[in-house]
Order: sequence, then C-alpha cells, then structure tokens
Amino acid sequence: MHEMALCEGLVQAIEEQATSQGFSRVHAVWLEVGALAAVECEAMRFNFDIITKGTLAEDARLDIVEVDGTAWCMPCGTSLKLRRFGEPCPRCGSHQLQLVDGKQIKIRQLEVT
Ligand SMILES: [Zn+2]
Repeated sequence: MHEMALCEGLVQAIEEQATSQGFSRVHAVWLEVGALAAVECEAMRFNFDIITKGTLAEDARLDIVEVDGTAWCMPCGTSLKLRRFGEPCPRCGSHQLQLVDGKQIKIRQLEVT
C-alpha cells in the first residue's frame, strides 16, 4: 500500500504547514505527481479520503496534476519527455537516459481558511 504511506506523508506535510501558516481548515489540495512516480491516482484519492478523516483536511478535494517526466539522453544530448521507464530516446534510440524530473510528489497549492 504505497499510496497509503504517501497519503500519510501528505497529511503530515499539510498539518505542518497549518501550524507554521496558521490555517485550520483545508478545502482543496493540488498535488503534483510525476509520471514516473509510480502512483495510482485512483488509489491516491481513495486513501486520501480515508486518511484525512478527523484531520483538518477532512472532506477536502484532492486534485492530482500529472507532470511528464523529463530525461536527458547521454549519447546525443537531447532533453526529452518521458512518460514511463524503458522508452528509448526518440532521436537516437539510446536507452542511456538520465532522469531529470518526473518522480516528484509535492503539494502545489492548498485552498485553506
Ligand atoms: Zn538520444
């Protein structure tokens, strides 16, 4: 239950922000999820509803913003978009890719009162 642990971390991060920024209710959460983060968005929403029960984010809407992965091809020096692991470079066909971005899971924005 990878998503369960992620949601627990998410709620913890929200509670920390609530303490430092002084809000008490969260109505919506925009979560940026990289295409290569191996997160099931449906499972994420399901677990979010369970884990936020009784917290300041109870009944908050979870909006997942999927972000393409970015990689850099070592042989030809092209920067490319990566939807999943195992895809070759579209320009030279190499698999020697260096991941730049796309594994992140982070809060982009919160709607709070
Ligand atoms: Zn290449």
